[in-house]
Amino acid sequence: MRQYAPDMTTSFSNLQLAPALARAVAEMGYESMTPIQAQAIPVVLTGQDVMGAAQTGTGKTAAFSLPLLQRLLKHENASTSPARHPVRALVLLPTRELADQVAQQIKQYAVHTNLRSMVVFGGMDMKPQTLELKKGVEVLVATPGRLLDHIEAKNVVLNQVEYVVLDEADRMLDIGFLPDLQRILSHLPKTRTTLLFSATFSPEIKRLAGSYLQNPVTIEVARPNETAATITQQFYSVSVDDKYNALRHLIKANDMKQAFVFCNSKLGCARLARSLERDGFRTSALHGDKSQDERLKALDGFKKGEVDLLVCTDVAARGLDIKDVPAVFNFDIPFNAEDYVHRIGRTGRAGALGHAISFVSGSDQRLVTDIEKLLKTKITLENVTVEQDRSRERREPRGESRESRGESRGGDRGERSETSSRSRDSDSRRSREVGYVPAPRIKSDPFFDKPYEAPVRSADAPAPAAPDPLRKSANIKPKRVMAALFKSTT
Ligand code: AMP
Repeated sequence: MRQYAPDMTTSFSNLQLAPALARAVAEMGYESMTPIQAQAIPVVLTGQDVMGAAQTGTGKTAAFSLPLLQRLLKHENASTSPARHPVRALVLLPTRELADQVAQQIKQYAVHTNLRSMVVFGGMDMKPQTLELKKGVEVLVATPGRLLDHIEAKNVVLNQVEYVVLDEADRMLDIGFLPDLQRILSHLPKTRTTLLFSATFSPEIKRLAGSYLQNPVTIEVARPNETAATITQQFYSVSVDDKYNALRHLIKANDMKQAFVFCNSKLGCARLARSLERDGFRTSALHGDKSQDERLKALDGFKKGEVDLLVCTDVAARGLDIKDVPAVFNFDIPFNAEDYVHRIGRTGRAGALGHAISFVSGSDQRLVTDIEKLLKTKITLENVTVEQDRSRERREPRGESRESRGESRGGDRGERSETSSRSRDSDSRRSREVGYVPAPRIKSDPFFDKPYEAPVRSADAPAPAAPDPLRKSANIKPKRVMAALFKSTT
């Protein structure tokens, strides 16, 4: 657990949290508040509406849930009657993974109280959720679509809600949840506290806040659209054909133990995962075609250190809190500059140092310009020496270009659609050495000064096994099946 240096102003002891909450915070190992916590907690404790701009990984979950739990403590009771446990706080998030993660954190903070919390999201059987809802729960974490399903099925009543949190609100708007949000909010009492958190304050977000928040206190710990100061960002100019080798080279050259690798399409993601797996990297793919169970397993494997590379689409780009991911690769430059901020927010979390590496091919220049505009900074492209392996060429995935795909939405509720066509890059040089231009380092932030520490492996834990290129993987389709298919046609 990375620590924030305690000082007089940011110590949790200044807050006079209820002993049950203070104990949970101490057990989490937090010594001092993060900047968003230091600013938001006292305001939320007064019951005022908040409009908070905070980047991912800044500790914003505790910033809203600790004061919210504190204010709900007056309702705490040990009764088994569902009527004594109506929903009093609603936390809405755009994706299942994020909802699950926030719910887990809230459970940890509330562990020494009698306040109940649970999460509902789509892609799972509604029945167990319904049973739990009917037992009564004070803090309900939900994705909008599934919550509406439960509202329509009359599994949940929201007329006693006192607090609403719209977390990652920009993302919710981005994926078209505004009508769902409006319907949900229409079921809530008018007198309530509303907290809106967003990584960016777009005009749409301001409009949403204007409609649903009353005299909100605006809290901005980072400039909107700013990336964490602890992340070193590098952009490499690489042809589409060379991306794969560049990725392998940079992972090895930088001795990276674990990384997220972002692709723009599901197919690109699956292909890349297969190739990396064949090359001996312990790899999992995380994208919209994966079942909820597979996604949670992939994340769990990564968290446990059983997976080195998590190859994912933007479905995984928001809010997933996996501590100490040293690196994020943008194998494809994202179509939306804001997704760049969210993707690289997977690293450099809670003050750790992080490394974000993006591959820029010919057709990506416009996307890079969008990122420059959003970050208000000039991006310098670097070059990388790539040793091409001819034998691998036929099976390597190529990068994706915007032109070759188009940009549609749809598919799974709450996820950006991921289309599948590929681009062709005419540049097929075998090996190249181009000048190295170091990218400007992002200046450090006094709050986030500590270096990245690799997870400590206990003495009796087995050493990581050397990659076995012959090992079977879930990402590799068994050859026999293909052979059988061909046989049946002959
Ligand atoms: P969040 O931005 O809420 O997803 O939090 C990012 C990470 O920071 C989570 O792993 C939290 O457990 C951790 N965290 C939150 N508050 C603190 C704190 N005051 N001190 C240390 N770590 C924290």
